[in-house]
Amino acid sequence: MLTERQPRVSIAHLPTPLEPLPRLTARLGGPQLWVKRDDQTGLATGGNKTRKLEFLVAQALAQGADTLITCGAAQSNHARQTAAAAARFGLACTLVLRGEEPPRSLGNLLLDRLLGADVVWTGEAVLTERLEEVAEEMRGKGRRSYVVPYGGSNPVGATGYVAAMEELLVQAAQMGIHFDHIVLPSSSGGTQAGLAVGARARGYTGHILGISVDLHAGPLQNTLSGLATATASYLGLGMRFLAEDFAVEDGYLGGGYGVVGDLEREAIQLLARTEGLLLDPVYTGRAFGGLIDLIGRKIFAPHERVLFWHTGGTAGLFARTDLLE
Ligand SMILES: *Cc1c(COP(=O)(O)O)cnc(C)c1O
Repeated sequence: MLTERQPRVSIAHLPTPLEPLPRLTARLGGPQLWVKRDDQTGLATGGNKTRKLEFLVAQALAQGADTLITCGAAQSNHARQTAAAAARFGLACTLVLRGEEPPRSLGNLLLDRLLGADVVWTGEAVLTERLEEVAEEMRGKGRRSYVVPYGGSNPVGATGYVAAMEELLVQAAQMGIHFDHIVLPSSSGGTQAGLAVGARARGYTGHILGISVDLHAGPLQNTLSGLATATASYLGLGMRFLAEDFAVEDGYLGGGYGVVGDLEREAIQLLARTEGLLLDPVYTGRAFGGLIDLIGRKIFAPHERVLFWHTGGTAGLFARTDLLE
């Protein structure tokens, strides 16, 4: 394993299932659609941050931390998984969330509260600046706080997705299949960067396409190349990544981060009604909506095998009654 020398705690239920989507494949007339179920990683409703946190929490424990601090949107899946991981290891947790406190705690926010996290609202302040301030205040009070970066996306967190790529390739080999394409939502970049490192190190020959959820392609590709190069170096693999090594589609940004439009709503309803599979309103709903649009534009041949990497987030559904409009 590429990651075996890195400290790691065991939180996720691994390997996550790898499943075909036969009814949707038939309905769309190909390509052959499959899904990697990282919505089933098993930590307080799961998701992609759990794999990152296996490495981040191990580092926090090694440093003697007593508190995890992180930041995100009000419905951050990352914040909720960090709160759950903290509880699991007897650590305190402070979440710095963007904006003002909403009138009701629904979805991920409900879970943050149940999991015992303290929540600080940024108001008008810049999220990552407020995070650093809160961390500093806590250090001043003698807390040994460990700052989990935005989205868990640094070389330590991205290591979780280097391991995930190896996991997928072992599963695919056992089933005797090859994926021509892997499609996933991409935002802070740790997931796509980690997959790219694992793919290059293991000689995966298919394509990886990140569907951007919030950034334009250029800035996201720059983030991805920097993070992938740093992750490879952290793992002792001599590899350099360039922006153009990353395929990013930024044609589905719609109304911006977290805004549900027809693309997301139709994809969520289609997957629910054709396969009994739940997508989330912010990331996988948008990315799968984009994938369906790309299929309609004949980007993939009908015989090609396309894997959608389900990164989780379904707890966010329970804050969104507008999905039925
Ligand atoms: C955080 C998140 C992503 C994006 O992953 P990055 O590693 O930040 O690019 C995708 N899907 C869900 C459900 C997430 O919570």
